[in-house]
Amino acid sequence: MIGRKEPSTRWAWVEIDRGALRRNTRAFKNLLGPRQRLCCVVKADAYGHGAVECAKIMHATGCDMFAVATVMEGVELRRGGISEPILVLSEPPATAIDTLLEHSLMPSVYTSEFALAYGERAVSLGVVGRYHMAIETGMNRIGVHYADVIDFRREIDFHRGIRCDGVFTHFATADESNGWDYKLQCKRFDEAVAAMHEAGFECGIVHCDNTVASILDPSMRYDMIRAGIGLYGLQPSEVTRPVFPLEPVMSVRARVTRTAHPAMGEGVGYGFTYRVPRARVQICTLPIGYADGLSRTLSNRMDVLFRGMRVRQVGNICMDQFMVAIQQTSQRETPEAEMGDLMTVIGRDGGAEITMDEMAQLRGTINYEVACGFGMRLEKIYT
Ligand SMILES: *Cc1c(COP(=O)(O)O)cnc(C)c1O
Repeated sequence: MIGRKEPSTRWAWVEIDRGALRRNTRAFKNLLGPRQRLCCVVKADAYGHGAVECAKIMHATGCDMFAVATVMEGVELRRGGISEPILVLSEPPATAIDTLLEHSLMPSVYTSEFALAYGERAVSLGVVGRYHMAIETGMNRIGVHYADVIDFRREIDFHRGIRCDGVFTHFATADESNGWDYKLQCKRFDEAVAAMHEAGFECGIVHCDNTVASILDPSMRYDMIRAGIGLYGLQPSEVTRPVFPLEPVMSVRARVTRTAHPAMGEGVGYGFTYRVPRARVQICTLPIGYADGLSRTLSNRMDVLFRGMRVRQVGNICMDQFMVAIQQTSQRETPEAEMGDLMTVIGRDGGAEITMDEMAQLRGTINYEVACGFGMRLEKIYT
């Protein structure tokens, strides 16, 4: 049932299905052996789904660790009462070190300058600064180059203020798990880890899989997988869709804030990019805009659902509102909307559905970006 709960101050909201989040989390947990861990990636406010609320559900479903992109995302989880290990998937500026140590957040480390500054500060506070070492194996984003891992560890491992709790890399093309590029990253990572073990350097938890790799390639799961998008019920690639069913967690709903029947030829919205083409067209206003993540590039190109049917969005999407048109034709009488009626921007209504993937395709982007966007301003309702 939709619309059971909604915000008291706004006729637009994001619905988060706790049950779906739980079942998706369990599906990833079930991929793992008893000694393998699940790290849930909750960066960008859990891909727009609300980091603290989602982390609580994931924790209750067997998540062992959380990963975030920024130090402040980690602080937010701590303030929200999350006590599991938290990995920051980047090396922040050295000025973040006190905050990391205060909140027990593990940075990713790949420069000796940061590692040693981190160690110095930890010693002066009488603690040990735990970190995960990022290894660059081919994506050319962050990490110690795979051929330099031994030199790097020799440079920093003398320091008693730091401890390597994990080593990891990140794949650029894991959706092509038989591809040459992916295999090469695997090989470089395997060899870098083996070399460190052989040289006697502590590696801690070894991990490399994101959602798509953890589904497609059981051989690289190592000690932990880092699942993100799949937890939220979104497919990372068309390749995984047939083999790993997931349930979408987020829906986006709004209620009609005004209805009108402008005369034929009247314009709608900024710039009049739509004009009422005939008599008997109802224009309905909905209170969601591009500041809520509904990209303006969708203007005049997307549909929303009303009573289980598609209606066309018309005119330029505004910052906070957009309009739809319900058209009567001689062949078909379409039910008109009333002020306060419910419409669905993302999700199911009766037999109809608008998916993140449909919207991503229209925008020329990926479902990740669409989901993150809806987290920007809309209130989240957990059902
Ligand atoms: C975002 C991210 C992930 C999660 O990726 P998904 O495709 O969402 O599973 C894992 N590891 C790193 C380093 C990331 O940046």
